[in-house]
Amino acid sequence: MRVEKRKLMDTAAPNKSTAIVNGRCSNVLNWDDIAHPWAFPKYKRMLANFWTPFEIDMTPDVKQFPKLTEHEQGAYLKIIGLLALLDSVQTDYAGKVADYLTDSSINALMIILAQQEVIHNHSYSYVLSSVVPKNVQDEVFEYWRTEPTLRKRNDFVVGGYIDFAENPTVENLLKSIVFDVILEGLFFYSGFAFFYNLARNQKMVATSTMINYINRDEQIHVDLFAKIFRQVLVENPEYDTDELKQFAIETFRKAAELEIEWGKTVIGDRIDGISMRDLEQYIKFYANVRCNQLGYGYEAFPDTPRKNPMKWIKAYQEVDLGKTDFFEQKSRQYTKVNVQDNGFDEL
Ligand code: ZN
Ligand code: ZN
Repeated sequence: MRVEKRKLMDTAAPNKSTAIVNGRCSNVLNWDDIAHPWAFPKYKRMLANFWTPFEIDMTPDVKQFPKLTEHEQGAYLKIIGLLALLDSVQTDYAGKVADYLTDSSINALMIILAQQEVIHNHSYSYVLSSVVPKNVQDEVFEYWRTEPTLRKRNDFVVGGYIDFAENPTVENLLKSIVFDVILEGLFFYSGFAFFYNLARNQKMVATSTMINYINRDEQIHVDLFAKIFRQVLVENPEYDTDELKQFAIETFRKAAELEIEWGKTVIGDRIDGISMRDLEQYIKFYANVRCNQLGYGYEAFPDTPRKNPMKWIKAYQEVDLGKTDFFEQKSRQYTKVNVQDNGFDEL
């Protein structure tokens, strides 16, 4: 069954949506008359998380980058290169999904999500323009084309998006959300681990602060997509099949393999503080967590313990509103730089 685009206006439909896809909704948004009570708290949370790269003073990192080991520098640039591609594609994917949501409140959340991806994307240009010259920045933004491991990994996830973009059916929407949860909830994670490890060694703390803000946004994004996924299945139970479940589990297994291969390439056992064994367990642990968020339990890697094997990351990753942590305090102490553009020269 196809998913139909939301009408710009449906004068005969109620303001409150009748279904998340292929439903009816006038397209007028009244936050006090919405179908899903979780949407408004999520809206508030997304607004409260608002940040921009300009808040982060890169000066300490600019001084520190040349002092990193060659391997650390290489991993730093490769991971930023990877994130840059994923967040670019993600902006467009979120926009496309938004067109098909027949619930004006969930559509509003998706538009904010897309806007946050634009900011994530900007942040990669922002940090690179600070720590490396322009020609290196340009090279990093070509890694998606020039680095084979990265390409293989990204083609995998983007392929799932393209299927939906070119053939928007309920099935392809659901499958693309599996890829989305991989992109936002798994494929960023070895990169996050790398930056948090640098930070706990007092290195590149400004970049890690930014990564932490991105991580915080991504956690909300994954939850939004997982909720949409489960709601579409509630509304269209004929798609809630064992076949879809097996597809999700298999896709998570493949994704974890690719992520581990990528981890070996960029991190390997060559970075102090992260062992490949832990990283592998960490990736499998997250594959299980994400699969479970979609409603499929911990079946991707049933033998993997249900505890985060890299516990130290928690302190860096799980930032909540109202709490200040290491990163928050650090970043708030920074004076805001007033830059007109990315301003490598100005720093
Ligand atoms: Zn993002
Ligand atoms: Zn995201």
